[in-house]
Amino acid sequence: MIVRNVLVTGGAGYIGSHACTELLQANYRVVVVDNLSNSKAESLSRVEQITGKPVQFYQADIRDKQALTDIFSREAISTVMHFAGLKAVGESCEQPLNYYHNNVYGTLVLVEAMRDADVKQLVFSSSATVYGESVHVQYTEDFPLGPINPYGRSKAMIEDILRDLSAADTISKVQNPWKIALLRYFNPIGAHESGLIGEDPNGIPNNLMPYVSQVAIGKLAQLSVFGDDYPTRDGTGIRDYIHVVDLVKGHIKAIAALQGERFNAGACRAYNLGAGRGCSVLEIIETFERVTGKKVNYKIAPRRVGDLAECFANPERAIMELDWKVEKNLDDMVSDAWNWQKKNPEGYV
Ligand code: NAD
Ligand code: UDP
Repeated sequence: MIVRNVLVTGGAGYIGSHACTELLQANYRVVVVDNLSNSKAESLSRVEQITGKPVQFYQADIRDKQALTDIFSREAISTVMHFAGLKAVGESCEQPLNYYHNNVYGTLVLVEAMRDADVKQLVFSSSATVYGESVHVQYTEDFPLGPINPYGRSKAMIEDILRDLSAADTISKVQNPWKIALLRYFNPIGAHESGLIGEDPNGIPNNLMPYVSQVAIGKLAQLSVFGDDYPTRDGTGIRDYIHVVDLVKGHIKAIAALQGERFNAGACRAYNLGAGRGCSVLEIIETFERVTGKKVNYKIAPRRVGDLAECFANPERAIMELDWKVEKNLDDMVSDAWNWQKKNPEGYV
């Protein structure tokens, strides 16, 4: 069997480390580039521990063209999974230039280095935040885009750049055209079942699941439920939570799809990765308490600015074209998140 080398940018991060694990288990060779700005190299040691296989790690910034050129000349990369980026919505409103520089410029440098090395298969971490506000709560890929914060706009700009890149190859009918999957994630939560890798947020978490886990373990005093007056079944916000392992399995399926007929002449195509069902904040708390036996101390607080009442994925396209579907339910997500939290109360230290 031919071993294919995949370059994973941001591979030391939350989703990237799970992707490395899944890739190694699917017999790919994994090369990681990460500047460790929001992660620790320990995550990659844990990936090696889980899989019993090595990860080739380069500590570098994707904006460093020379570093990328060196990596492409040293490793025979066939495909890139691009996770590297900044991801906090609130921070992006305070530091927009940092977000555009890191996410948009970083991706430009990456695709230039890829083009120079004639590596033109890319799986990109996009986000449901690229969608605009809609009267429909279940999003399909052809919904109009209209992100409302700099983070979301950085993802939408990257999508535009990648679509243009692919279109240019189609017009000029080049021999090795760009093949790009834009994967729009909904709300990834949970952790690898081993409890060795998981989400390790810096400081106080912004996202619901790590916040709930840290309240349950006693690191944080109380969860604020942002709003109970939304027009939803219990008044709290509804999102589409997806187990991180299901999410990264979608990436492995995407790599396979890039080799298939749909992408033969080159293409850039978006896919929603979500479970296709919504779950409220109170349902998350109830599930957490039932599955872990731990009480979650919470209070109802005002709505968070910029939050939608409800959104969830229509994942039909990924199911049909990537031959992918979620396998894990909310109980699995919660119990794996808790397993990781219990085993690593201080994260990767
Ligand atoms: P993360 O912060 O855990 O991982 C990102 C990794 O990229 C980190 O290891 C960080 O050190 C690295 N990185 C950042 N900038 C870099 C740069 N310039 N050069 C090299 N490395 C760099 O985040 P995550 O949750 O694993 O998210 C991965 C990707 O998925 C991101 O692009 C994010 O925007 C996207 N995404 C995440 C979510 C989510 O809820 N976690 C949802 C939608 C999309
Ligand atoms: N949420 C909450 N308290 C928190 C964090 C989040 O009530 O401390 C709610 C938030 O309003 C939303 C849902 O939980 O309805 C998911 O929020 P998260 O930040 O995890 O993801 P988002 O969908 O906003 O990216």
